[in-house]
Amino acid sequence: AVPLVVAISTAISAKNGLLIRNRTAFENSRKITAMVFDKTGTLTQGEFGVTRYESASNEFSREDILMFAGAIEQNSEHPIATGILAKVKKLNFQLPKTANFQAISGKGIEASVAGRNTKVVSPGFLIENDISIPENAFNSSSETVVFLLIDEKLAGFIALADEIRPESKEAIETFRRNGIKVMMATGDNTTVAEAVSKQLGLEGFYAEVLPHQKVEIIKELQRRKEYVAMTGDGINDAPALAQADVGIAVGSGTDIAAETADIILVNSNPKDIANLILFGKATYSKMI
Ligand code: ADP
Ligand code: MG
Repeated sequence: AVPLVVAISTAISAKNGLLIRNRTAFENSRKITAMVFDKTGTLTQGEFGVTRYESASNEFSREDILMFAGAIEQNSEHPIATGILAKVKKLNFQLPKTANFQAISGKGIEASVAGRNTKVVSPGFLIENDISIPENAFNSSSETVVFLLIDEKLAGFIALADEIRPESKEAIETFRRNGIKVMMATGDNTTVAEAVSKQLGLEGFYAEVLPHQKVEIIKELQRRKEYVAMTGDGINDAPALAQADVGIAVGSGTDIAAETADIILVNSNPKDIANLILFGKATYSKMI
């Protein structure tokens, strides 16, 4: 028979948009010593708005930058794509067609636009390829900047901003009071990651993380004898969610992340995660 406390906690969870797929993992959530959060859409709203866009080339206008980038982003579901496309729509631009779209894992996307090889990439990609970053690209630590390359040459950049969820700070405070170290792993650049980490008072962060590296981060923490929980939403996060002692998927429960997680939270509110883990602690300590 299911112990009464467990039945009650499961019922409460369901009401909060919470699904426990692996009860053992949920029971073990009382042992968590380290929590790794994905940034975008988890600690932040995941809604990027374009703040600036500039040309860095004589051949292209500011408008061209948005057009070429928008054209490729039509093929992507990344929150950066959504942000750029919202701007394009607002300005009523007609976008050119693209061919041969492909993702550059953890670094951006590329396609052929008007017959030219076009990429939208991270600052890390520029550094790796010895392309110098324009001086005016970074003027705020809270902006995420992506770069447009046309035929391997820098054409311009687009800066976007996402907001930290108002509930994140309190959630992290709660974890800390309960002896849980909170860390963040993100594909976004170091400057942004550092700003978010500082604002939230995180124990540490990992930036410019490639998809396959998230699982390595979890393994490393486990080697250091941490009992690790991971919270994420993307396809990229699935292996890390599986590796974690407790994997928590946030957002709509249909994708691969949800299939691999132990716990699914429909609302991506970090406060719910804090409540859930504390609830797990309280519930199972009563049973012992
Ligand atoms: P995260 O989910 O943490 O943002 P990703 O691996 O999805 O990590 O992305 C890492 C980085 O790669 C982004 O911060 C961005 O610089 C670049 N990138 C990925 N996808 C896109 C895209 N569709 N458009 C522009 N840049 C992208
Ligand atoms: Mg992601």
